[in-house]
Amino acid sequence: MNVHDSERLSGLLEGAGYVPVAEGLADVVVFNTCAVRENADNKLYGNLGQLWEHKEVNPGLQIAVGGCLAQKDRDTIVKKAPWVDVVFGTHNIGSLPALLERARHNNEAQVEIIEALETFPSDLPTKRDSTYAAWVSISVGCNNTCTFCIVPSLRGKEKDRRPGEILAEIKALVAEGVIEVTLLGQNVNTYGVEFGDKGAFAKLLRACGDIEGLERVRFTSPHPAAFTDDVIYAMAETPNVMPTLHMPLQSGSDRILKEMRRSYRSDKYLGILERVRAAIPGATITTDLIVGFPGETEEDFLETMRVVEEARFGATYTYQYSKRPGTPAATLPDQLPKAVVQERYERLLELVNRISLEENQALVGNVVEVLVSNGGRKDDATHRMSGRGRDNRLVHFAVPEGAEAPRPGDLVQATITEAGPYHLIADTGYSLRKTIAGDAWDRAEAASCAVSSSSVGSAKAGVSLGLPTLGKPHSAPSSEPHSH
Ligand code: SF4
Repeated sequence: MNVHDSERLSGLLEGAGYVPVAEGLADVVVFNTCAVRENADNKLYGNLGQLWEHKEVNPGLQIAVGGCLAQKDRDTIVKKAPWVDVVFGTHNIGSLPALLERARHNNEAQVEIIEALETFPSDLPTKRDSTYAAWVSISVGCNNTCTFCIVPSLRGKEKDRRPGEILAEIKALVAEGVIEVTLLGQNVNTYGVEFGDKGAFAKLLRACGDIEGLERVRFTSPHPAAFTDDVIYAMAETPNVMPTLHMPLQSGSDRILKEMRRSYRSDKYLGILERVRAAIPGATITTDLIVGFPGETEEDFLETMRVVEEARFGATYTYQYSKRPGTPAATLPDQLPKAVVQERYERLLELVNRISLEENQALVGNVVEVLVSNGGRKDDATHRMSGRGRDNRLVHFAVPEGAEAPRPGDLVQATITEAGPYHLIADTGYSLRKTIAGDAWDRAEAASCAVSSSSVGSAKAGVSLGLPTLGKPHSAPSSEPHSH
């Protein structure tokens, strides 16, 4: 969600005339914070502290803080770091250019946090990092109240975007060369709750299947409690919906799930997996797990190990529980000692890695279709490039001597020859299918080559999104030629 918000912030700022800079020279720095991450506030204030020195050297430098932490901390941010110019919340990211302007004009910090969404974020301009893949928001907010999660209090109740708008955005993206979309929401399978259509998510998946040129559709994340069979049928019967499901389990213990206020139980979860695998042979399931939730006993933890063993996840994102101030779980009495959590985490990691390795090794000999990624350059030592399979597994593949190399966004077929817990290697059977995404990449490359090096290096109206690379502030723009 935050990555997509950063793309929108980037698009908004470019629309307002700002241009990106490589590093160190920015006149505007924007932090898009995430309160879900551990130690988010310490990291933010640490980074702001570093920027203070830069502001001393370049008083024109503007610093803006947005995202969940800004929504939560509001004017505390300018109290703790008075050199911050703008604080904006999760519901008004569209105001950023105006707030920067106002802070500059009035020469004082602008703090603007609003409680409800004004414009659906996807209506704002977006600058996407990838030419071939895009996030598409279908909803924001969440009506659940998981006790470890800060999202409901910061992002508000679920708001659904109308299907027509979503499909129009996807068609426009495909026209630009995008061939993979990921439908994005805190809880995608409750999509439609706001406009009273329980089957809306399955219908949306099927409608994506009718979009010509769209090769891959993914979604994240569904909630097991709201998972219905119409979604399984829509996945199975829509060829461009990928055979993969990322569905957070969080804990295998029914007692802990209850404490987490997650209303499904492990049996229901495993039942969904069984039905998905029956309808979509070879479907890859991935999940999120939290270890060490307050009050978790050894028996509870063993339940998680049991469910993990049974579920045979292709990949698992494991997290150690850590308190999020403002969440109900943060005040539960039975917080576990770090050593206990660490020990369980290591046991779980060993299990999930073993299962991922076994699942990956079972694929050796299969043909895999790889969507070549942006960072998919040829590795000098192995001559391999990289991309993602239809099941979203990371695949490194060899391009045979003399064969035409793919561009980012092209599709390659190859045969899997080796497997590790986190990747596959496909060194034989290479064939290339050029795509509209590869053509779009060519066009983007040609356009960026046409930009003169002096204008690329110009820092006058620069903006660098995300955590900036901080070095000694430069006094003049770099004269390094732009290279690829
Ligand atoms: S479903 Fe639970 S974990 Fe997910 S966003 Fe909603 S409250 Fe948070």
